[in-house]
Amino acid sequence: MDPDSTAWYSVAPAAPEPSDACRDCGALPTAQIRVRAHAGLLLVMRDQTLDGPYCATCGNARIRAMTTRTLWQGWWNPLSLVLGAPLTLCQNWSSYRQLRRLPPPVPVPGRQQTSLGRPVLRRPQAYVALLPLITATWLITSAVTH
Ligand SMILES: [Zn+2]
Repeated sequence: MDPDSTAWYSVAPAAPEPSDACRDCGALPTAQIRVRAHAGLLLVMRDQTLDGPYCATCGNARIRAMTTRTLWQGWWNPLSLVLGAPLTLCQNWSSYRQLRRLPPPVPVPGRQQTSLGRPVLRRPQAYVALLPLITATWLITSAVTH
């Protein structure tokens, strides 16, 4: 076979993705959401932010992972306890509600959606949040009653 005759099966360049396609998997429809994680460690606070657009599957996967991280790393600084972690959890909850309004995503052939993983309340790390919350509640209660 003539080597030049192989050109007929060359792959056409992929069409560019629409600007509102899912950041992780390219699927549609998406929502423009922000997902955050907060870590508060004694004297240091650190925030991580991911901006969409995300499809429902990938967005929920990101929210689950970053909410779980906030629940076990987000409370170990006084400012984090009263501000950083609660605000981060509220932001993620708001993003979750936006994603719930989306119809199921239409996957793009050859691209893989982010694995959802277990729900937040089925992840043991999420329950680490109970320790600082119970301690803070006890401290506030004893300060008020004494
Ligand atoms: Zn996606």
